[in-house]
This record gives sequence, structure tokens and C-alpha cells, in this order.
Amino acid sequence: MPMEIITYPNPILERVSEEIEEITPEIRQLAEDMLQSIHSQNGLGLAAPQVGVNKRLIVVDVDKMDPGHGCFMLVNPRISNQDGLTTTDEGCLSFPELTVTMTRAKRIKVHGLNLDGQETAVEAEGLLAVCFQHEVDHLNGKVIIDNASYLKRTMYERKVRKLRERQN
Ligand code: ZN
Repeated sequence: MPMEIITYPNPILERVSEEIEEITPEIRQLAEDMLQSIHSQNGLGLAAPQVGVNKRLIVVDVDKMDPGHGCFMLVNPRISNQDGLTTTDEGCLSFPELTVTMTRAKRIKVHGLNLDGQETAVEAEGLLAVCFQHEVDHLNGKVIIDNASYLKRTMYERKVRKLRERQN
């Protein structure tokens, strides 16, 4: 089932997430639910803290913008072999109506466990590489607004306050 996405300024987004010691049925279900959440929200990826779980699990599916990759569900992901630079205007389901220009490695290798507990590695470039780096950032408590200018951040904080007032 799609899950509710946690949005800024919830402090869960700024915490460093814990390694997953054992891939339980709950973790597999969480990954499935996260995948459904990105599909229902038109996202490209999601990290567990964005659904309120500070554990190192990410789900990435960029097929609707860059077809042919399939979806990835990775436990305890880590990035190596960073090469080149690419600049993208990134959005985030936890930051509605915000995009921030980010420069990241153009090509990377991502290592981690699949949901069967097997060590896997994926070579990625372009949008897929950007998406993996964005999601791994979430596990380290790093979010796109960290890279926004002071002015942009202040304006966004004001917008978020107004949105909340309207909801209450
Ligand atoms: Zn994000």
C-alpha cells in the first residue's frame, strides 16, 4: 500500500539512518510499499526515512523518465567509483514545490544487498546515478534544501508555513 510521505521540516529527515542487520519480511514489505508510494506520487525514488523509518533502505525507479532500467530496492547502499560531474534541478517528495540545482557525480557504482540478502552492485549514469545519490543522501540526513541559497531556503520555509496554516 502507498505510504504517507514525511515532509520538511520533520526532524526524521535530518537523522542518520541505521544499517539493516537482517532482511525480515517487514523490511521486504516496507520496500514494496515504498515502491508503490513512488509510483502513486510520481516520484523517481524514495528512502525509508521519508516514510518515517530511519533504516538504510532505498527504492529507485526512473523508468518513466529514462526507460529500461527497472526498479531497484537496495539495503545498506553505498556508492563508489564516482566519476565526472552532472548538474540537475532536483525535486524531492519530501519537499513539495521545491527544486534545487545540484551537482553530483555523473557515473557511479552502487553496492548493497538485494531483498534476498545477496550482495549486488549496479553501475549507473545520468538520471539513474543522480537518483541513487539523492536517496543515499537521505540515509545520511542530507536533503536538497541543504544546497539551496539562504534566500531560497527562507522563501521555501515561508511557503511551507503558509501551506500548513491552510491545512489546519
Ligand atoms: Zn528526496
